[in-house]
Amino acid sequence: MKSYRKELWFTVPTRRAFINITQQVNDCLRESGISEGLVLVNAMHITASVFINDDESGLHRDYEQWLEELAPHEPISRYLHNRTGEDNGDAHLKRQVMGREVVVAATEGRLDFGPWEQIFYGEFDGRRKKRVLVKIIGE
Ligand code: ZN
Repeated sequence: MKSYRKELWFTVPTRRAFINITQQVNDCLRESGISEGLVLVNAMHITASVFINDDESGLHRDYEQWLEELAPHEPISRYLHNRTGEDNGDAHLKRQVMGREVVVAATEGRLDFGPWEQIFYGEFDGRRKKRVLVKIIGE
C-alpha cells in the first residue's frame, strides 16, 4: 500500500469564503501515483470546513445566509466562547455545521464523484494562514 500526505495553505482575505479546491486535490491524486484507494481531505483548523457540494454561486450565497441566520457573527457578546477575548464564536459553530472533512474514492486514478460533486474549503474566520490536509492511501 502506498501513502501520500500534503498540506494545502490558504490565506483568505475576507472573514468568510468558499473556495473550490477540487483541482488541487486532483493534482495531489496525480502526484501520489495512487490509482485505487481513498482520499481524505480535512480542514486543520476548528473555524474552517471541507465539504462537497455543487459549484453554484446561488447555492453559496444561500449557505452564507443560512449560516448567518443559524450563527450570526454579531453581536459578538452572544457567544460565551468570545469571553476568551476572541470574536470567532460563530465561526466554530459554522464549521460544526459544514463539517471537518470529506473522503472521496479514487478509481482508475480519478476522484470518483457523483454528478456535480466538487470539493470546497469553507473559511469562517479568515485573514490568516490556514491549512487543509490531503491524505491518500491505496495502490
Ligand atoms: Zn475561537
